Amino acid sequence: MKLLITSDVHGDWEKYAAINDIVAREDIGAVLNGGDLLAHGGTNRLKDQRKELLILEYMLKDCGCPVYLQCGNDDLLGVLPDIMGMIGRLPHVQRLDGHWNNLDGLYVSGYSFVPDSPFPTKDWCKLDGSPGWQRPPQPNPPKHSDPDGMVPIAGDGQAWLENRSTIAHDMERLMPPDGTDWNQCLMLFHAPPYNTDFDLTMFDMHVGSPAIGAFVARRKPLLSVFGHIHETVEMTGQWRGDINGALCAAIGQKGPLQYLMVDTTDVAGSLQRCSHSL
Ligand SMILES: [Zn+2]
Repeated sequence: MKLLITSDVHGDWEKYAAINDIVAREDIGAVLNGGDLLAHGGTNRLKDQRKELLILEYMLKDCGCPVYLQCGNDDLLGVLPDIMGMIGRLPHVQRLDGHWNNLDGLYVSGYSFVPDSPFPTKDWCKLDGSPGWQRPPQPNPPKHSDPDGMVPIAGDGQAWLENRSTIAHDMERLMPPDGTDWNQCLMLFHAPPYNTDFDLTMFDMHVGSPAIGAFVARRKPLLSVFGHIHETVEMTGQWRGDINGALCAAIGQKGPLQYLMVDTTDVAGSLQRCSHSL
């Protein structure tokens, strides 16, 4: 089965249309979307993202194959109930994070949280929890969203984040489905691993998660895919590599739709990065 894997489409309807176009022309068995489904939004982000979700639902309805998706750090938690409502209405759409989906014998799951960033919205941020990791400076007052709106977080948000599990803790608890091995699993992380070819920003800073890197090195999934840092592939010139021998790839969403294609029967041999515009 051929999989189309992408991320960070950010409500770009031409890119969603490009995905549907590829599905219509090629024999795609499933689309995987690693998060940042919706555009950031303006002054009323919840209202804007809910409006965009109507268009996303329309695009997904037309997709023509199963779709597995998750939120990224730009998709407000306050909109998650609406996203779940959409998933409930579209039987061919399933959630990626927190679920194992069997695609032709390959088990596919995802993880949405990112290590805390300088940006004020903390919905999908966690402390990394790895030795040596430092929280970046916080130039703006932190906030999070609930279904009624944006909610200010007291202080610099450290205490609020400490009430959540760390990414390192989550990685300890992440297990393949019963009776399977990590080498039968594909993981789609919104955040990249720290200090790799996949987490370099335009400011020449590595901003990925040490905990996710340690997880990949230890567990060695058959394939780990990363999004979030749109410019990293342009910065490093690398979209594919390995961590401790475990195959990794970045989406690097920039310009026309960037996506990976992989065949479940030969993941390492078939993996390629492609771009497409209508
Ligand atoms: Zn993004």
